[in-house]
Amino acid sequence: MQFFSTRDQNRKVTSSEAIAQGLSNEGGLFVPESFPQVDVKALCELDYPAMAAAVIKEYLTDYSQDFLTEAAHKTYGEAFGGKAGYLAPVEGDTYALELWHGPTCAFKDYALQLMPKLLVEAKKNLGRTEKTLILVATSGDTGKAALDGYHDIPGVEIAVFYPTGGTSEIQRLQMATQEGANVAVYAVRGNFDDAQTGVKKVFGDTAIAAELAKRNIRLSSANSINWGRLVPQIVYYFAAYAQLLKAGRITFGDEVDFCVPTGNFGDILAGYYAKRMGLPVGKLVCASNENNVLTDFLTTGTYTAKREFFKTTSPSMDILVSSNLERLLYHVTGSDAEVAGLMKSLAETGSYTVRPETLAAIQENFSCGWSSEEEVAGEIRVRYEKDNYLCDTHTAVAFHVAAQKKREGVPMVVLSTASPFKFPRSVLEALGRTAPENDFEAMQQLEAATAHTAPASLAALRQKPERFNTVIDPAQIAEVALGYQE
Ligand SMILES: *Cc1c(COP(=O)(O)O)cnc(C)c1O
Repeated sequence: MQFFSTRDQNRKVTSSEAIAQGLSNEGGLFVPESFPQVDVKALCELDYPAMAAAVIKEYLTDYSQDFLTEAAHKTYGEAFGGKAGYLAPVEGDTYALELWHGPTCAFKDYALQLMPKLLVEAKKNLGRTEKTLILVATSGDTGKAALDGYHDIPGVEIAVFYPTGGTSEIQRLQMATQEGANVAVYAVRGNFDDAQTGVKKVFGDTAIAAELAKRNIRLSSANSINWGRLVPQIVYYFAAYAQLLKAGRITFGDEVDFCVPTGNFGDILAGYYAKRMGLPVGKLVCASNENNVLTDFLTTGTYTAKREFFKTTSPSMDILVSSNLERLLYHVTGSDAEVAGLMKSLAETGSYTVRPETLAAIQENFSCGWSSEEEVAGEIRVRYEKDNYLCDTHTAVAFHVAAQKKREGVPMVVLSTASPFKFPRSVLEALGRTAPENDFEAMQQLEAATAHTAPASLAALRQKPERFNTVIDPAQIAEVALGYQE
């Protein structure tokens, strides 16, 4: 399997190169040249680690099968407490795919616990010996998941940039307390898009790349623009389907809809890949918070990033530039020139409009909706009081949209992307309580109010010393990168 750039099909790379490099040189994203067709029935009989190895090997064809099997077993066993891809019944034929049983309590662990192993192996496959410097822009969860995955990995340095005040206190502490000799964390003045734009600028700066190359350092990305981030996320769509089959809730071939709380369009795009590989996925429902740029796009065909930015209680979805949408645009149009044109328009004018045929093709697979802050809080409360199901703010965005888009007789799987204890103040307030200022007190009160237990890794943060407190401007991200020596 080869990969090429969404903006230039002539830039072909192997999967090792796609993972080591992250972004194509001219700014495009790497996409697979085809959608491998799999034996869905056989896949559904595998346990999670074996299923992961089987799906991933279809794309990472220059990795050895033994390596992938071992990496998947190491990643999705103990670290996920036996609950990798766990599907919880919620109400009727609506389910929650709980993706937060990994070490940092958000779904990003699925990719970022595996990615470091894929990167080290990619370098081996390519005979590369340079140091890899990973720069990560995060709205909260990616940063911690990447730090946890990459800390103390030989030959790798990682620097994480998060927007000041843009994360929950728990998320901030998860990052600020990170251990490891090769990690650094910076707060960046501005919002997530400012941090992401700052990081992207460094990636696109050939002078910085040349200077770092002199020191035998090469930049790489752990953001969801990296193919290595997307491919592990395809697996849990199969796992959800397999569990519905096993439980006798569907017969093989029945369609299942998925509703995904969406920011950068990575998680939901993985569902699109699963569908194109043969999984009977019906609609992929794109759920947004008040930053509903994707709802507008999927409804009208016009993407407008130039709009008011809202800070919401689901900060990991506070995004106006959804990078992975570019991959979908490529798959739907099949034209690198067209995608390059749209992205140029986005960069220069802050918006673009796709052709009516393109919009129609997208709407065949995707529907959409969004939730106001009030609706998110209401949803948390209703799900808890009616179904005894406690969910976080991001998941609640999706539950609210899922209820509107539910089709009679078609099961709906809501991707539950974070533990409710990651956002304890918002969840507590949604339940009608007055939340204390302190996140840890809120965590304890949430435990007392619901008889659920906070994940140990979150509760333990209270005792951990903070290591990082530097605040910088977006323009200083370049200086940080250039501060690394051989
Ligand atoms: C990152 C994240 C999302 C959004 O996922 P995308 O792949 O960026 O669309 C949703 N919920 C949580 C909790 C997240 O951390």
